[in-house]
Amino acid sequence: MKYCQTCLQPNTRPNSVFSADGICPACDYFGRLKHVDWQDRYDILVDLLANSRRRPGQEYDCIIGVSGGKDSTRQALWARDRLGLKPLLACLSYPPQQVTERGVDNISNLIEHGFDVVLSAPAPGTWQRLMRHSFDRFTNWARSTELALFASVPQLAIRYHIPLILWGENPGLQLGDLKTLGRTGYDGNNLRYMNTLAGGGLDWMLEAGASPSELIPYRYPAPEAFDAHGLQIVYLGWFLGDWSLVNNGMYGTAQGLKIREDTVDNTGDLAGVTSLDEDWVTLNQMIKYYKFGFGRVTDYVNEEIRLGRLSRDKAIGLVEAYDDACAPGYIASFCDYIGITVDAFWQQVRANANPQLFDIRADGSIHRRFQVGVGL
Ligand SMILES: [Zn+2]
Repeated sequence: MKYCQTCLQPNTRPNSVFSADGICPACDYFGRLKHVDWQDRYDILVDLLANSRRRPGQEYDCIIGVSGGKDSTRQALWARDRLGLKPLLACLSYPPQQVTERGVDNISNLIEHGFDVVLSAPAPGTWQRLMRHSFDRFTNWARSTELALFASVPQLAIRYHIPLILWGENPGLQLGDLKTLGRTGYDGNNLRYMNTLAGGGLDWMLEAGASPSELIPYRYPAPEAFDAHGLQIVYLGWFLGDWSLVNNGMYGTAQGLKIREDTVDNTGDLAGVTSLDEDWVTLNQMIKYYKFGFGRVTDYVNEEIRLGRLSRDKAIGLVEAYDDACAPGYIASFCDYIGITVDAFWQQVRANANPQLFDIRADGSIHRRFQVGVGL
């Protein structure tokens, strides 16, 4: 395990390759942003939009997947108020056991801002069973739900005849998931190859006993369907020079977004602005830490280091203190939902912790072997 020379990204992030001089893809990208002419990029976007005007019978200019969180609130308002578009917002809603009151309020906030929002709710029994299978098989409960979240937007784009999909972050450039890179910095049509989606394959769900008809909401439209309907995903994050976790959180709260009140030692969320609509992503971030040696705090501090608002040394302290944070209450409610005991949960997490990065002691506690900022 090696760390980026500039930030605290370890080279254990899936689909990521460091440069010869030890710089992570996201820092490399950020370094190149200094030379970007943002007006130039804005002009590219305006041209792009001029070329994708509404076709006859098309009622919306674009579709935006929203959770009501910071990124989607910023995108929706920017698309309408700055770009003059009429967007349809698409929200995939979670079952009542998973969604937070805050998440519901944040969607209401967008509706109150005057947007049309189409809500879809996949069948809750299938959702629950697939989440359990996903956790059992991958020690990652979100494998199935992420597919549904990502698939819902192009599925609705096809049904509503809206070829333009606006997406937020470019995971290839802004996180370093290189498989998602497209023809240009804003081309999002390779989003399906993101690590969490793995090309959109459903085989493991079929093997787990789900029927093809139960998997309709999980089916990410194939490249052929994208071509047939002329779908184009455009990353808005590429056009916004100040796109970041903290900045988007500030824009969002100024527009009525409700953020977390729970403390960082329970959530690993330094500003309380991520995954506002549910709480179990927090335990997935903790599991990610045990698998790859980095969690939610790492993602935060890396952006802040690049923006020059936090020193690498100070960031090391934050990562050491909170990168594995997750309140026991979130774990308990998750275990209750998928029908396992908390002991079984920890047994599985320990069995899937990376043995090169972590030692597991006789009492079951997990200890890192690497030094944050230095590696192994
Ligand atoms: Zn870096």
